[in-house]
Amino acid sequence: MIVVMKSDATSEQVDHMVKHIQELGLKPQVIVGTQRTVIAAVGEERVGLVEALEPSPGVEKVLPILAPYKRASSELKADRTVVKAGGLEVGGLKVAVIAGPCSVESEEQIVRLARILKQRGATGLRGGAFKPRTSPYSFQGHKEDGLKMLAAARAETGLAIVTEVMAPEHVPMVSKYADVLQIGARNMQNYQLLQAVGDSGVPALLKRGMSATIDEFLLAAEYILDRGNPGVMLCERGIRTYEDHTRFTLPLATVPYLHEKSHLPVVVDPSHGTGKARLVPPMAKAAVAAGADALIVEVHEDPENAASDGSQTITPDEFSKMMNECRRVAEAVDRIM
Ligand code: PEP
Ligand code: MN
Repeated sequence: MIVVMKSDATSEQVDHMVKHIQELGLKPQVIVGTQRTVIAAVGEERVGLVEALEPSPGVEKVLPILAPYKRASSELKADRTVVKAGGLEVGGLKVAVIAGPCSVESEEQIVRLARILKQRGATGLRGGAFKPRTSPYSFQGHKEDGLKMLAAARAETGLAIVTEVMAPEHVPMVSKYADVLQIGARNMQNYQLLQAVGDSGVPALLKRGMSATIDEFLLAAEYILDRGNPGVMLCERGIRTYEDHTRFTLPLATVPYLHEKSHLPVVVDPSHGTGKARLVPPMAKAAVAAGADALIVEVHEDPENAASDGSQTITPDEFSKMMNECRRVAEAVDRIM
């Protein structure tokens, strides 16, 4: 339910409503908007709730939230959410860029690359320390040592660290080093992980599961939001289809569709979305044109010898060229980059 308060409602009336919502067994969330305050009453919707909420002082109207995801829904919050993590800001006028290797390989590698990326306009540094690999025989990441390498790169450059956490029990450890916890496509419906990331309060980059519908994606975000963590970024990274010319199919209609359904910022990953380095810059430009709030891109100085995902990884020079082209697209759609 959404309780819309009158524009002249007092703070006592808001507090009273919050208590009333709790007494009804629902979880209140106060959202102070530019026009008026609304209070979300999230929980099991049952008959008689509107009648129980509407007569309270200061209430203008009570509306049901029709979407199955309540806190992620734009019905609840009209203003767009801006997620801030260190120097990384996603959801504002500026299209943010998170770049870096698929896997963190060495401190020297990540620090040198971070300096280059920072200089060329990235505000976030990606790099996997825990890697979800299809084969158990592939490189699994440097784990906590890799996190320390990322922290060294942040100390050198100030870039915000975006790195994957694969298990609920690793959330405290990864949170010690990361500015943003990435939840990988393979874990989008790992509900215990989502709840642990929600409890951590650390901003999250939630990747769309490769076979997940948009409703399932937003309900996964809901798990994090429902634990009181408002910092969720939704990342389209491509889905499985019958196509085999690309590693995944990157559906960019997801971007405006998510913006319609949700107030959360949308990130696009053209690297996993295509699987081919030469397709990354064109799809990055298309993502910016479609309204993406950020890009997450795999970059490596020597993609051919990268520990993982080399074939979809661009070089720093290709990254620079892509950034210049994306800036022009951003300008055309009234954004900055
Ligand atoms: C990654 O970002 O390197 C990664 C494993 O992504 P995804 O979960 O989207 O496959
Ligand atoms: Mn990768």
